[in-house]
Amino acid sequence: MSDTFDAILIDRDADKRQSVSTVRLGEADLMEGDVTVAVEATTVNYKDGLAITGKAPVVRRFPLVPGIDFSGTVTASSHPDWKPGDKVVLNGWGVGETHYGAYAGRARVNGDWLVPLPDGLTARDAMAVGTAGYTAMLSVMALERHGIRPEAGPAVVTGAAGGVGSVAVALLSRLGYQVIASTGRPAESGYLKDLGAAEVIDRAELASAARPLGKERWAAGIDSVGSNTLANVLSMTRYGGAVAACGLAGGMDLPSSVAPFILRGVSLLGIDSVMAPRPLRLEAWRRIATDLDMAKLNALSTTIGFADIVRAAHDIVEGKIRGRVVVAM
Ligand code: NDP
Repeated sequence: MSDTFDAILIDRDADKRQSVSTVRLGEADLMEGDVTVAVEATTVNYKDGLAITGKAPVVRRFPLVPGIDFSGTVTASSHPDWKPGDKVVLNGWGVGETHYGAYAGRARVNGDWLVPLPDGLTARDAMAVGTAGYTAMLSVMALERHGIRPEAGPAVVTGAAGGVGSVAVALLSRLGYQVIASTGRPAESGYLKDLGAAEVIDRAELASAARPLGKERWAAGIDSVGSNTLANVLSMTRYGGAVAACGLAGGMDLPSSVAPFILRGVSLLGIDSVMAPRPLRLEAWRRIATDLDMAKLNALSTTIGFADIVRAAHDIVEGKIRGRVVVAM
């Protein structure tokens, strides 16, 4: 076996102009860490799109191998929890931002960042879920911790045809929620209904400036869009309901008022996947293995090769990707 491997490398010149190229690296080129992993599958998340296109300052060291998540097999380890042959999953911890990431044949990371590949999932399944799907699960768990149950009323999912959204629709419907999917792609209505949406609404309904309070339409929400969309979702949440905020695909601002919080007791739950503590990660991956319908996971994911990563990165920031993209390495 060759001891070098293909990797995507982001660099920038003295004028801070970013370049993206495919290079050959060896293990000696990797960054510090006590576990080396042969990357078998990775994925293209929205954040990877921002990193590769340079649209937002995701990459904070140059040069850098991007890619915020991977699944693969341990090839070398001096970490007590891991030995060669172990199947692992990594999400976040700055990988693909400050530490060499997933878009390479090998990754060397801190063993504390890894979780075991859940029983019953292949490396490709885990990356069909990816950071987007694991974030959808963290969002569902946050709603549950708040005491939200399907009996409370419908759950809205924004950015529904995207990665977080598609997995959130599949998870919530499997758990018994009546799911209202908000999308800007009406042509994906059939896709969203197949994933379990009871109703599909046009995202334009949630796009203009929000009134302090609107008609109470749902008891819960998972929002991957932010900005006016999140403000509208909050203003239309029923008394005592909760909304998990996990994304900014529509903007980082939140032009809301305190009305939903102080007049309807609505709660806004923040979701971060990158630094989420290990027990929460283990629970999220355990729940994914039990609560996500594998047939739906297959239906919402497409597989591409290493050579297609850069194109997919551009597509995802342009909102052209449906569901999840798996990169088979
Ligand atoms: P995708 O691009 O797959 O999905 C985002 C979806 O948002 C799009 O498919 C589209 O859905 C909708 N959308 C895009 N642009 C706009 C817009 N201008 N106005 C309204 N809706 C829009 O990305 P992901 O699902 O991978 O990620 C979604 C968000 O979640 C991103 O902001 C990402 O950074 C964030 N994220 C956060 C994490 C965390 O730790 N908190 C972890 C993972 C992701 P449709 O076509 O259906 O309208």
